[in-house]
Amino acid sequence: MAAAALLANQEASSKENVKVAAGKNAVRKPVVISTWKFGLEANEAAWKILKDKGRALDAVEAGVMVPEADPKERSVGYGGRPDRDGRVTLDACIMDEFSNIGSVAALEFIKHPVSVARAVMEKTPHVMLVGEGALQFALSQGFKKENLLVEDSEKEWKEWLKTSNYKPVVNIENHDTIGMIALDEMGNLSGACTTSGMAYKMHGRVGDSPIIGAGLYVDNEVGAATATGHGEEVIRIAGCHLVVELMRQNRSPQEACIEAVNRVVNLMKLRKKELKDIQVGFIALDKNGEHGSYCVQRGFNYAVCDATGNRLIDADYHLK
Ligand code: ASP
Repeated sequence: MAAAALLANQEASSKENVKVAAGKNAVRKPVVISTWKFGLEANEAAWKILKDKGRALDAVEAGVMVPEADPKERSVGYGGRPDRDGRVTLDACIMDEFSNIGSVAALEFIKHPVSVARAVMEKTPHVMLVGEGALQFALSQGFKKENLLVEDSEKEWKEWLKTSNYKPVVNIENHDTIGMIALDEMGNLSGACTTSGMAYKMHGRVGDSPIIGAGLYVDNEVGAATATGHGEEVIRIAGCHLVVELMRQNRSPQEACIEAVNRVVNLMKLRKKELKDIQVGFIALDKNGEHGSYCVQRGFNYAVCDATGNRLIDADYHLK
């Protein structure tokens, strides 16, 4: 090949490489991801805010409020399954791009615990309120006190009382949580997580979902993660903080979720516990808008919404 042609060829190929590299590192934003199938509807609400260049914090709050308000969703907010004493106790937290955090746990009678968590974050000197104190605070902020135990949940609970056997069934609706994380047009990350926790838990039991670092973590320089499943196992490894720290060490969101699930698996082995009895799922989003997920066993999915649409993705899993 003539020298000039060779040079032109090399230039073209190096331009192509630059393009590919730019494509690979290009930031895909805005984007919102959330746990389980109900994430699809929740993402729609979040997307309305994100597409108009709204703040990720507002998007995740609006998003998770959808299943919180839905009485048919039996694992979050209104309609959530009760504890073993028949009381619906809710856990939620929220975290923004400045590492502002707010959380409530074992909160009764309030339909939108995520908004109470946000009020804790914005209006108190504290980061977490629980039980009666959380309720008093919510009422002082104008939240309405209402009965959250719907008829179907009450019936099921009365049925459960006949055996009173606490044995969470993997992926079968007696546990589930919506965790949502978003990257907005400004390139900022926020997250929210809300749940009624494990059905028929002991009164006062708190899982991972309202615990910053366990059920949710956001680091605006790196990425964000949220979790679902057996909260005790997520807390044991400080799950979402771990996922974010792994992304800081240049793991992809997917690799970070895999490593966190491996830690859960190893600790279950060490403690001689049956892995097939539990589910833990992580989803993660990095600063470039790349997402990933991983879980212990088949059945966990998550919803992803960006400019190309809203879709449900089956998470890859450990127990093959
Ligand atoms: N992680 C929640 C909890 O332990 C429940 C769930 O996500 O299924 O309370």
